[in-house]
Amino acid sequence: MQRCIDPSCGARFELNQRIYVCSRCGGLLDVVQESATDPEQLPALWTRRLASFETRNQSGVWRYRELLPFADDAPIVSLAEGNTPIYDAPVSAAYCGLHALTLKHQGCNPTGSFKDTGMTAAITQALILGVQTVVCASTGNTAASLAAYAARAKLQCAILVPRGQISNAKLAQSLDCGAAVLELDGNFDDAMRVIRELAEEESIYLVNSINPFRIEGQKTVAAELLHQRGWRVPDHVVVPGGNLGNSTAFGKGFAELKNLGLIDHLPRLSVVQAEGAAPFARLFESEGRLSPAAGPTAGTAGVSPASRSQHSTSDWNAWPALTPMEHPHTLATAIKIGAPVSWQKALRAVLASGGTVLSVSEQEMADAKAIIGREGVGCEPASASTVAGIKRLVADGVIAPNEDVVAVLTGHVLKDTDYAIKYHQENLLSDGDATEMTEGHKLAGTYRNPPTLVQATKAAILEGLRRHPRVNDTL
Ligand SMILES: [Zn+2]
Repeated sequence: MQRCIDPSCGARFELNQRIYVCSRCGGLLDVVQESATDPEQLPALWTRRLASFETRNQSGVWRYRELLPFADDAPIVSLAEGNTPIYDAPVSAAYCGLHALTLKHQGCNPTGSFKDTGMTAAITQALILGVQTVVCASTGNTAASLAAYAARAKLQCAILVPRGQISNAKLAQSLDCGAAVLELDGNFDDAMRVIRELAEEESIYLVNSINPFRIEGQKTVAAELLHQRGWRVPDHVVVPGGNLGNSTAFGKGFAELKNLGLIDHLPRLSVVQAEGAAPFARLFESEGRLSPAAGPTAGTAGVSPASRSQHSTSDWNAWPALTPMEHPHTLATAIKIGAPVSWQKALRAVLASGGTVLSVSEQEMADAKAIIGREGVGCEPASASTVAGIKRLVADGVIAPNEDVVAVLTGHVLKDTDYAIKYHQENLLSDGDATEMTEGHKLAGTYRNPPTLVQATKAAILEGLRRHPRVNDTL
């Protein structure tokens, strides 16, 4: 069934009712279900499926289908999503002041972002509901993912994107998959508003992250991560924060695994936003009951160990409402969101785990992205907020150097190549609307690696190599 998240309401709705928010109070909805399988048998069952070539076992989402609210004969729409690697990241760890750091790269999904793990579930649900058209508002990654899964499901697909505000790579993906791409004059939040009105149409199904089935698919990433780690729970899991669907999904995933008895405690879940699009971090900073962690750095609202125990998991409901930011700005377009729809669910997850929320600057994100690149891994700008945030949390004493930390990378490095090229050529402006003449907006290419022009002779090339430092020697 679907249940309103507001404890004072708690209204329940049928699983296949086409609603997005509680019809009684307007609250967000959770999907709740019970697994028929004995939880103790699940880890071995999931491991056996790794050796199976059956489509649903090859998917890193449907492999964990005991966690999902779908019947065994559901018309699964899959592109073998999930199955994303975890990487040991020594360069990033040293950069953050940690002994070790693990990267969970959700950018290695079929369309290059974490959105695929939720989209496979939402589009499967769209087929079950028998809708003709699926729509979303998107900063780009959701659009690319929806376009691909809608094409697989042979559904009509419409995508609303803020004009000129998404990367070419993401736009190209949507066009290639045959989606109707409708460019709006306005920002992402304007697109969200219009799309909620559209969802009143009977034949249209809305698959933004407010769609509870998206969260259901995405939450399996928590299971995959722990499965990959032999069910060892990390001390911290750090995710970027835009619309906050990702943090919501991780929180729900970990909580359900704990309820099943597969883990005995939750990792502390922390969210990192971009300074210019940080309504959730601002809410944390303004909330007096959470004392900022000791440390000189502004912008970090950590939960000190002493205050953490005072918060029960239901506390989120007593918090003031999040104040949207009207003109969010950041070069990390994937998290350029001023009015995140899932903030209550994310707040619930962060508080339940004892995590925190903070924001980082454009410069911190740009440098962290270059560091992740030197790992041989790479990611899109928004993903780098995690490593930038972890560096801050270590400096502030919220994360200890010997703690076991996982940073979740959400998008592939090829999602935004313009950004990387400009960074390395020291031509990256912190404000997308600034002109190249505004030197004050120019970000430093701290770890730049610009191309060099050389003559086509052996001697010139050997000289060029001699001048170019080996990767990571200059850190
Ligand atoms: Zn309600």
